Amino acid sequence: MKGCLAVTKNNSKLYISMYHYTRDLMHSRYPQIKGLDVKLFRKQIEFFKENFNVVRMEQVIEEVKGGDPLPEKALLLTFDDGYADNFTFAFPVLEEYDLQGSFFIPGKTFSTHQLLDVNKIHYILASADIQHLLKDVLERLDYYRGKEFNYLPNHILFDKYARANRMDCKEVVFIKRILQTILPEELRRRISSELFAKYVCVSEEQLSYELYLSLDQIRMLKRHGMYIGIHGYDHYWLGNLSKREMQEDIVKALESMDEFIDCEQWVMNYPYGNFNQDVLEFIKQKGACIGLTTETRVADLRFDQPLQLPRLDCNDFPPKSINYQKLM
Ligand SMILES: [Zn+2]
Repeated sequence: MKGCLAVTKNNSKLYISMYHYTRDLMHSRYPQIKGLDVKLFRKQIEFFKENFNVVRMEQVIEEVKGGDPLPEKALLLTFDDGYADNFTFAFPVLEEYDLQGSFFIPGKTFSTHQLLDVNKIHYILASADIQHLLKDVLERLDYYRGKEFNYLPNHILFDKYARANRMDCKEVVFIKRILQTILPEELRRRISSELFAKYVCVSEEQLSYELYLSLDQIRMLKRHGMYIGIHGYDHYWLGNLSKREMQEDIVKALESMDEFIDCEQWVMNYPYGNFNQDVLEFIKQKGACIGLTTETRVADLRFDQPLQLPRLDCNDFPPKSINYQKLM
């Protein structure tokens, strides 16, 4: 019995690597977009193949349900947001090395071909000078304040939300937060679309068709053994919605992804890593068995709640860095 426990104890760590855009950055139209270059992606996969045991999502589900423990140095590959570049550049490498990736796809991306706010903002940031963009955003906030919408003065908003994080400077964080969740939704949409039209030289609709996985591509990923999971429908900050709006978004996500998931045991990946107790209770009731957050550290299945597993960014592993060694 003691021996049994010791095995579980040794194998309880799970490294989860998180990817967003994976592409040939140098030859892409937006080389400034924050993604992992395909050459580095290949190097990273080679590193994982030599130094870790890359596991399948089904093995993680099995372990959290009390079944077989994971091997030592278990590592899971997760791809957020349903980008077609993951299909073009990452999927062939995964196939070559016989590894599984888990893809988390917002239902709206392939069903309506509308650009998510998160992507409008990424492309605006990849196309504009940050100081110039900040000035533009602040002027637009002044313009709309008191007309149909009310919100705090610029200096208070800036003090509150302009906080640099591991990935972004404070100006970028400010613009992201304001346009992702802080302003009223209608105004966020309006300002994002105005900025997109001004700075990005392509229509939102065209970009949505080239940016997101198509239904046929998702089906092919699934046929080739990749795991498909839930990432909301509209990619909202779920913890900031009313309970009714949050539940509606999750129900729509489950409906649009119905053919890809097992409704009795599916995996949730919270957009922006954002959730609250209501979200946890609702997804559990709806059949979620694992939840992926953006808290940055190695997961420990002995202590971490299955619905709140932390992850590491792909930039935390070689060839980008060796942060993974410190983020226990
Ligand atoms: Zn996302």
